[in-house]
Amino acid sequence: MSPTVLDGKQLALECEAQLAVRVATLKDRSSGKAPILATILVGDDPASATYVRMKGNACRRIGMESMAVELPASTTTTELLATIDRLNANADVHGILLQHPVPAHIDERACFDEIALAKDVDGVTCLGFGRMSMGEEAYGCATPMGIMRLLRHYEILLEGQHAVVVGRSPILGKPMALMLLQANATVTICHSRTRELDKLVRQADIVVGAVGRPEFIKADWIKDSAIVVDAGYHPGGVGDIELGGLGDRISAYTPVPGGVGPMTINTLIMQTVESAEKTLI
Ligand code: NAP
Repeated sequence: MSPTVLDGKQLALECEAQLAVRVATLKDRSSGKAPILATILVGDDPASATYVRMKGNACRRIGMESMAVELPASTTTTELLATIDRLNANADVHGILLQHPVPAHIDERACFDEIALAKDVDGVTCLGFGRMSMGEEAYGCATPMGIMRLLRHYEILLEGQHAVVVGRSPILGKPMALMLLQANATVTICHSRTRELDKLVRQADIVVGAVGRPEFIKADWIKDSAIVVDAGYHPGGVGDIELGGLGDRISAYTPVPGGVGPMTINTLIMQTVESAEKTLI
């Protein structure tokens, strides 16, 4: 049987239609006020600029607004903290996105943690991460939360399954592992010092590629009937997992592109709408 395509593009489209209705309702009930996502871009990295533009476009598609804050690469940590403070204090702003990565001289962790919990719609603060890990209310980190939403939509069994997450970054691997644990999967987290990675991946019922290296996880490491989630996206349209060689052996997979990426953006705007619903109604 052909594997199920975990179609993030299609699911994001369907969710956008529902979000547009929620935004219209919010506007009706608040004399026309729309949810606003503030996006902060520091420096002139073209890929980051593209991601921020895509996020702004997604806001507009559902009738929301975005407030684009663009800062030069020379911005200091103190200046960026002050910008975030101003957005925290601005009652019209419902969510704040600080585009990762910021230039190396900036203390990114301090800046992420400056974002007020109520506006942390990208799920990047330590406080939000800690609360999510403890099963308390918090906005999920957008990429892993988008993956969880995709897995749930396709009714992928997580409880009792062995999930192997390759990567442990603060915005992807680590929160992914904790979310899968919250969903009662048994989780192995792998990273650059992991020994015999291929043997660990071979044990996975669910494998998540979050390494940042093209086709680093080989097709023949993946066991039959596995669920394959690929967060990577590289030039040439390949991800972190060698999807091409898998054929019909696996149960389901996220395509690259059109799997994880659209769900990341959709989760960001969904959580901004949720934040606005808490304050505007
Ligand atoms: P990152 O911060 O560079 O983290 C990469 C992780 O991979 C690290 O934990 C690193 O381990 C691990 N790693 C590196 N080499 C390894 C090796 N040889 N064996 C095992 N693990 C290894 O990257 P990221 O931000 O998490 O992103 C990961 C991927 O997801 C990238 O392809 C990125 O483009 C993609 N991504 C996609 C979205 C989306 O919306 N679609 C969003 C974010 C990221 P150490 O911790 O030991 O260094």
